[in-house]
Amino acid sequence: MDAHTALQHTLISLLWSPMERTIDTVISAQGLDATAGTARIHELTEQEKTSRARKAAGACVAIGVVSLAIPLVHFVLPWFMLIVASVVYKKVSQQSAVLMEATGPCPKCGATMSIEEQTLEWPIEWNCQGCRKSTSMMPAESSAETAEPSAE
Ligand SMILES: [Zn+2]
Repeated sequence: MDAHTALQHTLISLLWSPMERTIDTVISAQGLDATAGTARIHELTEQEKTSRARKAAGACVAIGVVSLAIPLVHFVLPWFMLIVASVVYKKVSQQSAVLMEATGPCPKCGATMSIEEQTLEWPIEWNCQGCRKSTSMMPAESSAETAEPSAE
């Protein structure tokens, strides 16, 4: 490997975060043929999980603290927000990935759907902006095992 190639590899590894990957997805909608899309996923590190959870719980605590200034409300809300904060902390720290963006053609009208950044939870339920059809997106690699349509 010459110096040029080595430099290129270093640059690519710096720019291309190993925590982020693009996967193929299957977009399905009831009664229609599934289409193929892609999703960009950011896997959270332990550090990121903790800092996200702290921020979310901190926001709850902040609301509780602010509510101390409100008559009557301050008897209940601060305690309630402490409970909410602990629940939120647990929930957020369990989230392991964030969906950065996902795109693909709508199974009904064919319009390109783009899904904004959100916490990743499969399947991703999404209404087409064009035709309001509700669709659900699943990773393509696991679709082999979970292809059986649920009897609904
Ligand atoms: Zn559509």
